[in-house]
Amino acid sequence: MLSYQHGFHAGNLADVQKHALLCVALDYLTQKDKPLSYIETHAGRGLYDLGGDMALKTGEAAGGILRLEEAFGADHPYRRRLAEVRVQYGEKAYPGSPMLAALSLRETDTMHLAELHPQEHGALNYAMGPWGPHIQQRDGMEMALAVTPPTPRRGLMLIDPSWEVKEDYVSIPKAMGQIARKWNVGILMLWYPILQSGAHVAMLRVLEQAFPEALRHEVRFPSVREGHGMLGSGMFVVNAPWGLAEEADRISGIFKRLG
Ligand code: SAM
Repeated sequence: MLSYQHGFHAGNLADVQKHALLCVALDYLTQKDKPLSYIETHAGRGLYDLGGDMALKTGEAAGGILRLEEAFGADHPYRRRLAEVRVQYGEKAYPGSPMLAALSLRETDTMHLAELHPQEHGALNYAMGPWGPHIQQRDGMEMALAVTPPTPRRGLMLIDPSWEVKEDYVSIPKAMGQIARKWNVGILMLWYPILQSGAHVAMLRVLEQAFPEALRHEVRFPSVREGHGMLGSGMFVVNAPWGLAEEADRISGIFKRLG
């Protein structure tokens, strides 16, 4: 039974780290004319309302993108995408990763999205309709294994689970290994929480053994509420594109200002 709903967390500090890195990676990849594939295993609903009950209940966006936005230059790819979404959907709109990706891609590019939650899947279909991606209501890693190696072969996969199922800490690195064997040129971006419980630590050990050249970027931030066990967020990037490590350093600098 899935209970996680990203609407409570959209635009939080973890989204800022993940979405800024994603936008920079896609900005770099789309500088070349060659078409690419974008694959996302845990897509969410694609578009969020930061003025809605969910966002206001947690206040996570207020302490996230709404606090840090100015620290990214106006010309940063993440800021450019945010501005485009606000023009189209209103000042309180916030794009999920599928919409950030869609705004970066060209007509020659291909997009595969999976979302398992029935309500989120319905909303995703609606939000992403104008771009016509392939959307499946299916387990994300199963979809990823089915569509790799993709056509076009060049491309990026975002893996952004809700980590509700403890087994994911074992099954996701295992699936990433299988995907990388089938698609050795693919850029794989995995988001993970840094937890007080240390549940992520053994998974990172496995990933670093399998992908010694990968980029690992982590930011720490104050807990969103008392007793909340998330201390920060991380991105593990296999085949990181040019410039991503420098962008990760810039993001670390921005997060340090949070104190
Ligand atoms: N990537 C989105 C973004 O940044 O805008 C947020 C995704 S949210 C963190 C994770 C999503 O994964 C939730 O919408 C949840 O319903 C969905 N989900 C959970 N288990 C899944 C599974 N096994 N396969 C596909 N989607 C799943």
